[in-house]
Amino acid sequence: MSQKLAFADDHFHDECGVFGVFGHPEAANLAYLGLYALQHRGQESAGIVSSDGKELYVHRAMGEVEEIFQPSVLAQLPGSLAIGHTRYSTAGDKALLNAQPIMIDCNKGKVALGHNGNLTNAAEWRRKLEHRGSIFQTNSDTEVIVHLIARSQARNLSGALGDALNQVEGAYSLLVLTQDELYAVRDPRGFRPLALGKLTTPGGFVSWLVASETCAFDLLNAQYVREIEPGEMVRISKSGIESIRFAPQKQLQQCIFEHVYFSRPDSIVFGRSVNESREMLGRLLAREHPVDADIVVPVPDSGVPAAVGYALESKIPFRMGLIRNHYIGRTFIEPSQAIRNFGVKLKLNPVRGLIEGQRVILVDDSIVRGTTSRKIVRMVREAGAKEVHVRVSCPPTISPCYYGVDTPTREELIASSNTPEEICKFLGADSLGYVSLPALRRAVSDTEGKFCTSCYTGVYPTDLVQLEVRESAPNGKSGEATHGNSSEPEPAERPVVVERPVRWRTRCSSAITSS
Ligand code: SF4
Repeated sequence: MSQKLAFADDHFHDECGVFGVFGHPEAANLAYLGLYALQHRGQESAGIVSSDGKELYVHRAMGEVEEIFQPSVLAQLPGSLAIGHTRYSTAGDKALLNAQPIMIDCNKGKVALGHNGNLTNAAEWRRKLEHRGSIFQTNSDTEVIVHLIARSQARNLSGALGDALNQVEGAYSLLVLTQDELYAVRDPRGFRPLALGKLTTPGGFVSWLVASETCAFDLLNAQYVREIEPGEMVRISKSGIESIRFAPQKQLQQCIFEHVYFSRPDSIVFGRSVNESREMLGRLLAREHPVDADIVVPVPDSGVPAAVGYALESKIPFRMGLIRNHYIGRTFIEPSQAIRNFGVKLKLNPVRGLIEGQRVILVDDSIVRGTTSRKIVRMVREAGAKEVHVRVSCPPTISPCYYGVDTPTREELIASSNTPEEICKFLGADSLGYVSLPALRRAVSDTEGKFCTSCYTGVYPTDLVQLEVRESAPNGKSGEATHGNSSEPEPAERPVVVERPVRWRTRCSSAITSS
């Protein structure tokens, strides 16, 4: 009997993308296009709030940007100011109730908020606020900020926002819209990106834009101006742009994974080209983990720039030996007759003519649970590869993220409890090499320790309130990694090692090629 199958992508997922417009007659249309360019940052729900100077207008729905914002919907969002949000939930469930921007009518007037990031003390604040009589409409951590704004004694919104944000911990790149102002705010550690842009019409009229990534500006022919600084609140109004420092900047913790995987390679993130970082990662990977082989094959799409870098450095030919289906939906009818690797084949298919008889270097950006990587290795072998050498353009991912990224639990992360040798064996690869943490820092030009690397080290820069972290001692024993429905023996349980050796490469003595 056929059944519906949900296709799970074995990657970390960024939580959200935000986009703001000030001073354009088609603000909602621009917000729609901006969100369209940021769709990779969240596909579960999207929303736009616009203002015509008197009223705020909102539309939020489940689904992707293109399907939600039909012309008839955009026509109901008038005005020259707008903020948009696209969401892949981390805190709070996936219901429409939690879709953003959130809108409130409080003692500071009508306000809409769109948030990228995750607050690490939200649960604690929620308990306190509920105790004091606040009634929450959603279970998203962003609503904590809303209640703290409403409770602030400050006379104006910028003061109330500063009050609220100085009481929360964690990651926030935030857009706030009132009837006649747009605020763009970044937390003092600068976890998530937020960029300021400018759109100049042929008549010389200037509109201001704010986006999670600069690829959204490119679509609109807008100009990237600068980053919103960590600890900075930019207020855009008819009087112009005002920069307010609402909190002292702390030790920077820019998410390094934005450069490894989340952001689009055509974006500038934290003032640096993402594509440049990824190609450099591939080059450094080739230097740290060389291997005799015939072709370099990326796991598309996100593994492509690193594979280009690996091929350029190693002088081994780059081949698109795996083709990605870009039109994949969310659920599928699985045939009643079992098809090997069915789930992964929906997304990727090998080009047998390129792979057959070849020693293949397979380059991917990360390994999370390992289950998808294992299927890809098997698929490449079935297409006739003589050898499969897996190269990963980030260090082993051993710890979850609490700063706005959807990650599996520590126990589900294969590298949290398995050595590279065990992972290599589980994947069925001939060898496995991870780029080292120093190389990753070098690839993003991080000479001053400005990047967060917690998912590779297990060391977090903020006080966390999550139960999982409280309950697991830094060097305590973690559960076994989850390896799907394998009939092969599971790798042995290993203790979590917080401090990892610099180089991660292993050669398997025996490869597993069938199950
Ligand atoms: Fe980024 Fe990892 Fe830090 Fe999360 S823990 S902010 S994914 S580097």
